[in-house]
Amino acid sequence: MKVSVKEIKQCACGAEIIVLRKRGSRNKCKKCLLRTISKAWRKAHPDRCRQLKRESDARNRETKRIRERARHAAHPERAAFRMANWTKSNPERAKQLQAEYRKRNHDKLLARYAERHYKKRLTLWSNKEEIAKIYANARILTKITGIEHEVDHIVPLKGKYVSGLHVEDNLRVILRYDNRAKSNRFPITAPNA
Ligand SMILES: [Zn+2]
Repeated sequence: MKVSVKEIKQCACGAEIIVLRKRGSRNKCKKCLLRTISKAWRKAHPDRCRQLKRESDARNRETKRIRERARHAAHPERAAFRMANWTKSNPERAKQLQAEYRKRNHDKLLARYAERHYKKRLTLWSNKEEIAKIYANARILTKITGIEHEVDHIVPLKGKYVSGLHVEDNLRVILRYDNRAKSNRFPITAPNA
């Protein structure tokens, strides 16, 4: 098929506009024309635009998260810097997010705290999952009974004569009052009494 060119003009962006004989003349290249049309459409349909944006954001969220995680891993110090800056300029929101995070991960954090605290008494055979469960139990009991429960080391970690380990077999849930009263005393002669 033969295409007969009527004239060749130049768009404001610098691109060539090939005007065909059969078509009417225009003074914008295809790209600029589409841009103008879509701009006008967006202006005429703001609600639809917002919805489309929301949908595409939702689609991209996972991709974004993956990318952000990689960025974090590559430059942890930069991430920490950004985080600190954000926290500084959003103190209220940061506080709220922190509280929510703590609430969501309470048992995990408590077990992790204990793990760090009792690091020297942690052994290779300590079952971290079981230990976390015991800490969770203490919290559940506190919630149900309304009386403070906490995790106790049956054999104290820093006893005068014997020292226990931070292992699940040496942990039990008791009332907070009992734990404070017991302190680090341990009856070595009669452990079952
Ligand atoms: Zn153009």
